[in-house]
Amino acid sequence: MCSSDLANPAAADLVGRAQDELIGRSLVQIDGSQRQLYPDGTPVLAHALGDEAEWTYRRRDGSAVPVHEWIVPLAPEDGAPGGFLVVAYDITQRIEARERIEHIVTHDSLTNLPNRSLLVRHLDQSLERAEREGTELVLVLIDLDQFKRINDSLGHHIGDELLIVVAERLLAWTRADDLVARLGGDEFVLVLEDLVPGADLDRRLQELMADVLAPVVVHGYELAVTASVGGTRCPADGRDPGTLLKNVDIAMYQAKAAGRNEIRWFEPAMLEENNDRLALSAALRQALDQDELSLVYQPQVDLLTGEVVGVEALARWTSPSLGPVPPDRFIPVAEDGGMIAQLGGWVLSTACTALARVQEQVGRPLRLAVNVSPRQLRGRAWLDEIAEAIEVAGIQPSQLEVEITEGLLIEDHGDVVAMLESLRSLGVSIVVDDFGRGYSSLAYLTRFPIDKLKIDRSFVQEISTAENAAIVDAIIVMAHALGMTVVAEGVETPAQEQYLRERGCDEVQGYLYSPGVPAGSLEMVTRALSRQ
Ligand code: C2E
Ligand code: CA
Ligand code: CA
Repeated sequence: MCSSDLANPAAADLVGRAQDELIGRSLVQIDGSQRQLYPDGTPVLAHALGDEAEWTYRRRDGSAVPVHEWIVPLAPEDGAPGGFLVVAYDITQRIEARERIEHIVTHDSLTNLPNRSLLVRHLDQSLERAEREGTELVLVLIDLDQFKRINDSLGHHIGDELLIVVAERLLAWTRADDLVARLGGDEFVLVLEDLVPGADLDRRLQELMADVLAPVVVHGYELAVTASVGGTRCPADGRDPGTLLKNVDIAMYQAKAAGRNEIRWFEPAMLEENNDRLALSAALRQALDQDELSLVYQPQVDLLTGEVVGVEALARWTSPSLGPVPPDRFIPVAEDGGMIAQLGGWVLSTACTALARVQEQVGRPLRLAVNVSPRQLRGRAWLDEIAEAIEVAGIQPSQLEVEITEGLLIEDHGDVVAMLESLRSLGVSIVVDDFGRGYSSLAYLTRFPIDKLKIDRSFVQEISTAENAAIVDAIIVMAHALGMTVVAEGVETPAQEQYLRERGCDEVQGYLYSPGVPAGSLEMVTRALSRQ
């Protein structure tokens, strides 16, 4: 057997033995490892001769010490093997540093949860095990709603604290075998394993949402958080990490599209819808760059004088590949795809310029109403854009009306009031669009600087029913009491006009007068309507 003839004091230290204890012992006895031996007892070197590798030695007390080891064959003497020179040093620190780095690159620094790369590695193993054992595995994607708003309005430190609390709650909610990962931003993924067949996952996820999203108090702010949750199952929906992650993302998106604070399980039919959405998004991006969008303008008529007093700008898009796409479809795509600021900026400058030209043709000032998506209102850059569009076109700020939806007011993050106040101080008017649609509480109206309410067309269309007539009445009375003007949209019949006039509604808009028309036709339409 190959045994040692010589050992230096450092070697003795390394393995926690006296120097003379090493002499005459085989390498295998010293390092206590599972090195294989040739039949004559010579160790099979784990690594190529003369090469180096990391290895583990056993100290006398049984503890392990990681080493970097070289084994160099000595020159043979008279044909007999000359033995080996073994050089090894302790690499405990190197290994610790490596583990620290490994942890850093596989974990999210804010919450210390596994990141995407570790999630994928974990999924690979879990999927293999699930397949072997015939068990089910579930992937859940949790995306906080409105997180960006919290970040933007209260600051990143508040947003960060919120993410940490959510991470802690997710860890507390899951079982030891489950994995909680953060994909970045406000997205968390759960991998739930070893599920009891037929487990009521919907109920578990409902509980999760209730527990994890209970109000969070951060630096004195009570934050009510909701989330959109997507789920996908293995093996039913997919068997590899890539497919499952894509599916769960699609399901989550469906939950968001369904109005947020929802849970959706992946279904194959969602794939097609997703492809449609992606195609639409790509086409819209191109359309914005290539000026494929246009605007039409729908006249608004004063009920007392019968004159056209303003127009609402409405976006139109005919895609060369997809045909005409209604704004109800492409505006949400622009919002989700981060294109709404570009689209909104284009609408604003195009419409202001068109208004300046039309009113010159008509010979009197008109008002211009522009629809603004809540997502456009983030940040102050937008205010500068408005001021610039007005100045470039050479119109008065008082001629511009910004139409916002009730949803924006309900969210009420404090910054909304400030933003609207700044808009007002520019001289621009604020209109609440689709008024009466989602929310019954009117109390918030007094808290915001609002100039005008636009009665939702669903009430106008069903104005003949007693209930809707009563709502329309109430809106007009209340708005006037608060010093606001009222415009009704979607007016299609003389009977509807008649009712609105009797109740004191100020302005009307709808197919009874005109649909939206291109800027070039607006002069003619305005003259024709005003003559009636
Ligand atoms: P909205 O602001 O409520 O616009 C009124 C919608 O009602 C328009 O549909 C208009 O064509 C339609 N309409 C007008 N008169 C009548 C009528 O008498 N009867 C009926 N049934 N409908 C009538 P459109 O143009 O398809 O726009 C749909 C929505 O898309 C708009 O609803 C608005 O929310 C959004 N939108 C349109 N243009 C823009 C834009 O430039 N920016 C943003 N952010 N949103 C826009
Ligand atoms: Ca509108
Ligand atoms: Ca509307």
